[in-house]
Amino acid sequence: MPPNFKAAPEYATAKIAVWWDMKDCPIPVGYDVRRVRPSIEGAFKNLGYYGPVFITAYGDQTKTPDHVLRGLSSTGVAVAHASSERTCALMYSDMVEWRGHNPPPATIMFISDQVYDRVEDDGVSLDLARLQQETLYNIFLTYSVRTRISVQSVLRFSEEWGWDELLGSTAMFNKHEEEEEEEEIMISAAMFYCKSCNFDSQSLRKFRNHLSSRKHEVENPTKRELTFVTSDWGRNYPAKPEYATAKIVVWWDMVDCPIPEGFDATRVRPSLEEAFKNLGYSGPVSITAYGDLSQIPYHLLRSLSSTGVSLAHAIDKLRCKKMLSDFLKWRDLNPPPATLMIISNNLEYFSKFVALNQQISKYNMFLAYSYRPYKMLALVTSAEWLWESLLAGFLRQEDTFFRGALVKGVNLPECLIAKCAVESCIHERIRSSLRMYRLDRRLARMYRKYRLEQVEDFPKSKRLRKAFRTGFRPFHNHLRLTRSSTSY
Ligand SMILES: [Zn+2]
Repeated sequence: MPPNFKAAPEYATAKIAVWWDMKDCPIPVGYDVRRVRPSIEGAFKNLGYYGPVFITAYGDQTKTPDHVLRGLSSTGVAVAHASSERTCALMYSDMVEWRGHNPPPATIMFISDQVYDRVEDDGVSLDLARLQQETLYNIFLTYSVRTRISVQSVLRFSEEWGWDELLGSTAMFNKHEEEEEEEEIMISAAMFYCKSCNFDSQSLRKFRNHLSSRKHEVENPTKRELTFVTSDWGRNYPAKPEYATAKIVVWWDMVDCPIPEGFDATRVRPSLEEAFKNLGYSGPVSITAYGDLSQIPYHLLRSLSSTGVSLAHAIDKLRCKKMLSDFLKWRDLNPPPATLMIISNNLEYFSKFVALNQQISKYNMFLAYSYRPYKMLALVTSAEWLWESLLAGFLRQEDTFFRGALVKGVNLPECLIAKCAVESCIHERIRSSLRMYRLDRRLARMYRKYRLEQVEDFPKSKRLRKAFRTGFRPFHNHLRLTRSSTSY
């Protein structure tokens, strides 16, 4: 991250909202608490941010001395009482709420060690990175420990500061802006909030009374867990108008998601196009297939190429790298709107890089894979498919049913195995059902009902159990993945 990023024009006078964890980043001993706001404002102004700054300080305020609270409040810093184990969750949910009322452009800043600490275990920063791909704000982070910046995050931010450095920035700035000092006195006193009981007051005395009251004690234990707002985001939305006719570009890993045996390779393109059309996308589609072309039968290559699928040779070791570099190159040359699709199982790898790029310029994203990711990806998409069901584009009825079951985010305990097993194990029966589907819609409805019964019956079916015992590896993968996602 380059230091001293100057404010982009749209942020120069936009609002700045700050959520400050007073436990992680306390006021240093002997530091004049009334300097906190001017310091933060000073640091922002040094980078060209002149918008109004809203600051809320979170902490266990029963332990904060009166003169500190008064000093904060008198400089327009709102004070929120929260037990320390809930602070991060509260700050985060308050931030989410704030975003709801304050559309971009705006700058948001966390003064906390938690946003970073949780990078590794996919906490706040993962959810925030996903939120950012939906609605982009300018993000700043401040920590008590400066060295943490080396941690690789999926969250893109404009600037990061050490807490000491931020508090120190005041001196330099205020020296030559001394005449503005008068303005600061004009700031009216800010609110005191008790986040445990939804209590707020502008009077420190009332706030203190509340914190020591029986009412506060009674309601205090309501524990608020960190809520990830993006974990139940749906999938396979209808196309937004700006993408409906925009171009669609597909990078397809033929090794992870191969053409199934017996599948007519000339049907790959029409199947994809049909799936896109079902969601309302009718733009031109270009597809590039990646794989070790020397290992792929000539007739498949010819079929693909005859339907306008470009072929890119890459040995196994370099395939993903090549796909990603082609993907990024394409992005550089083609501004949005466009829909970009990655067909691969190496989702952790793609997701992180693409999610970071999505926080700079946003494209509409699709994914397809031969088994579903077992945890929430950093990348936000508007549609995802299982590779086999994508190819079986004509199974529209059935897709709708499964989509219904799949919509709820990533914790997908619904039986993908069943779907897969049904498709692959008793495909003779399905094939005949498919013929029925094409012949007669009424029969197709019956077929769907029959399929539903199959799914419900699945665990009891001897035949499918046997398929798992003797069947090929992907089955076992599915089984394992689904098990782990149920316990997730
Ligand atoms: Zn309370």
